[in-house]
Parts: sequence; C-alpha cells; structure tokens
Amino acid sequence: MNDLRELYQEVIFDHYRKPRNFRRMNDANHSAEGYNPLCGDKVTVYLKVEDGHISDASFEGSGCAISTASASLMTDSLKGKSEAEALQMLEEFHGMVTGPIAGGAPAALGKLKALAGVREFPQRVKCATLAWHTLQAALKNQHDKVTTE
Ligand code: ZN
Repeated sequence: MNDLRELYQEVIFDHYRKPRNFRRMNDANHSAEGYNPLCGDKVTVYLKVEDGHISDASFEGSGCAISTASASLMTDSLKGKSEAEALQMLEEFHGMVTGPIAGGAPAALGKLKALAGVREFPQRVKCATLAWHTLQAALKNQHDKVTTE
C-alpha cells in the first residue's frame, strides 16, 4: 500500500511540476473560469468541442499541487471523449474524492485515481474538484466565474 501511495504522490508531483496542456487556447469554443477561495486556486478551462466530442482541452491558472495536478490529469483524460462521457467522468471523479472507500475507484478513471487519496483530506477536496466544476461550466458555456464556496 505504501508503494502505491508513493506512486500516486509521484504522479501528482509530476503533473504539478510539468502540467500537461497548460496553455491558453485561442480557438476554444468553450471556456470557463474557476476559483477556490479556501486555498486561492484559480483555473481557466478551455475546450474545443467538435461534433459533440472534445477534440482539445487545456487550462491556465495558478494553484496548489492538488488543483494543478487535477487540471493537468483532467485535460489529458478529456481528449477524444464525448460531452456525455466527460460528464460521466466528472461524476465518477467527484464520487471518488468525496465518497466512501468501499469498492475502490472506478477503473475508467485511469491516471486520475492518483487523486483518490484526497478524500482523506476534506479541506483539499475543493482543490481537486475545482477544475471539474469549471469543466462543467465550460461545457454549458456559463461565463460567471465558478467558485467552490
Ligand atoms: Zn488548493
């Protein structure tokens, strides 16, 4: 179990140091901004949705390791997904970081399972879910800033 935990921490640290898809997307057709006042995390999520599928996803912002790794892993996982699949993933992710441990994390979450340990730190759950709340707003093209409070 300790090895697994270390591996997960390594994934989070790696995505924090070298965030994937960390760039403004000038031709995005969906975007939204999110803010987690509890920790000071800020994120803007950009999506390019074509024929109901997410062909590209990126983000910008500044935040703690958990919020940055979550946005990095999320944008990586979104590419090629339909909007419905993205919302399903959001629900599974939310369940994983807030729900009971029984049954474990859904296999479909892949690398995102690195963030499963967050549920043991309730004050960090909002860091982990910020990018996802912002994703939801982006898909709906809600332009009011999302806040976790
Ligand atoms: Zn944070």
